[in-house]
Amino acid sequence: MPINRTDYIWHNGEMVDWDAAQVHVLTHALHYGSSVFEGIRVYATPNGSQIFRLEAHTRRLLDSAKIHRIKIPWSAADIDAACRNIILVNKLTNGAYIRPIAFRGYGPLGLAPAPDHPVDVSIAAWEWGTYLGADALENGVDCCISSWQRVAANTIPAGAKAGGNYLSGTLVSLEAHENGYDEGIALAADGTVSEGAGENLFMVRDGIIVTPPATASILTGITRASVMVLARDMGMEVVEQSIPREMLYIADEIFLTGTAAEITPVRSIDRIEIGTAGRGPVTERLQDAFFGLFNGKTQDKWGWLDPVGDTPATEQTA
Ligand code: PMP
Repeated sequence: MPINRTDYIWHNGEMVDWDAAQVHVLTHALHYGSSVFEGIRVYATPNGSQIFRLEAHTRRLLDSAKIHRIKIPWSAADIDAACRNIILVNKLTNGAYIRPIAFRGYGPLGLAPAPDHPVDVSIAAWEWGTYLGADALENGVDCCISSWQRVAANTIPAGAKAGGNYLSGTLVSLEAHENGYDEGIALAADGTVSEGAGENLFMVRDGIIVTPPATASILTGITRASVMVLARDMGMEVVEQSIPREMLYIADEIFLTGTAAEITPVRSIDRIEIGTAGRGPVTERLQDAFFGLFNGKTQDKWGWLDPVGDTPATEQTA
């Protein structure tokens, strides 16, 4: 997806020019994948720009850092404020994507960094549309089961959103694209369904919504959590349960969720049509409820929308 450049990037507490947000080639994270990051959506709503689940994203960023013993020198409140500010200073009023990243910076190269190894934090944002293609939300995408499995439990923590983990997603996605699919779905090391390269997976059969549990080497997505809440709020049954691969082929509906993918129907897997090979009724209801949060049709009972505000904080750049 294109990066639509803006004017500023928040870098270690300051707003710097887009082109000035640079790192040294000996940055630890560049060599060892020692970064943690987030992807956050901002929606243009009838009540102005709203950040979707900012608190949950910042919490996951700090959780990912804690798992990897990366000490972020900013509080959750600092990061939240910087996320709002980066939207305001760049005047992103049409919907945007925020990318906060914390990483082990330039310092001695070694696998076990010293406690005082520098940790840099940057937050960029740019205007952004749909991820898996313009008509994907309506007509669905074609997926394959990847020949690459997800990281096994006790190897690299799948539950932390760390840079190094994305070597897995890149292999899954590239293989899928090279074989003519829109996206790849990975199995966990035990052969049960894990998740898409950068999305969580849900299937529907006989009206029951099923999604793999946290133990299936998934990143526990914030969209996933939101979809479960919305579905239960509408009286639908949702279970977190191991899914054998063959269950996918005989599902009534399958959809992928993620900040980028939002709620994207899956039309086929391994060229086997899923259900009616289009968007199923449960998927559509969930999309309506989800997108309703941003067009005002779904009441935000959960406080998921965080207003960006009107004017950038001038006192503090954080
Ligand atoms: N799994 C992986 C591997 C991801 O990269 C993402 C995107 N962050 C997701 C699932 C979905 O998570 P979320 O809904 O929080 O964006």
